[in-house]
Amino acid sequence: MRYAMAIDTKKCVGCSDCVVACQTENNVPIGFCRDWVVEVMDGTYPQLEIELRSERCNQCENPPCVRCCPTGASHVAEGGIVLVKPNKCIGCGACIASCPYDARYPHPKGYVDKCTFCIHRVKEGMKPACVAVCPTKCMYFGDLDDPNSDVSVVLKKRKYKTLIPEAGTKPHLYFLI
Ligand code: SF4
Ligand code: SF4
Ligand code: SF4
Repeated sequence: MRYAMAIDTKKCVGCSDCVVACQTENNVPIGFCRDWVVEVMDGTYPQLEIELRSERCNQCENPPCVRCCPTGASHVAEGGIVLVKPNKCIGCGACIASCPYDARYPHPKGYVDKCTFCIHRVKEGMKPACVAVCPTKCMYFGDLDDPNSDVSVVLKKRKYKTLIPEAGTKPHLYFLI
């Protein structure tokens, strides 16, 4: 099983409902976030295009944050999801420094936190909170090894990209373009 998410940059309207839903669902402390919306301007005037993207941890298949963690707190869990065990984390910040996507933050309680793909919801048969709440339904989640999952189906139909592929992290977050 390999969990993944695809996000449609053509449908995202930048409302940040995904950010609020994540903060509520996961008790993210005020001033921090596990997901965020990026606005990128492309082209030259007057042919300008704006791309809106909801970003989060890429759940990398080759995660530097796991390799550099001195205590094993950062680890690859079932379904290829990269998680942090708060009780094993010493807050050294090596993983924060190693992540090319700036996807982690220091939790005020002394450990490092990040997107979990809402595995606690997924285990109960629900979609991640950000996916469930999106008003334009621009996010697709599921198992890449299941050809009928939402994410597998949309990746077969659409063109997509990953972020900073040259970093060699093999992201499991895809952006539909
Ligand atoms: Fe680790 Fe960053 Fe990749 Fe997430 S995006 S798995 S925090 S390297
Ligand atoms: Fe590991 Fe925690 Fe250090 Fe990150 S801050 S590298 S999870 S011990
Ligand atoms: Fe937050 Fe869950 Fe979405 Fe990750 S999958 S950004 S933890 S709501």
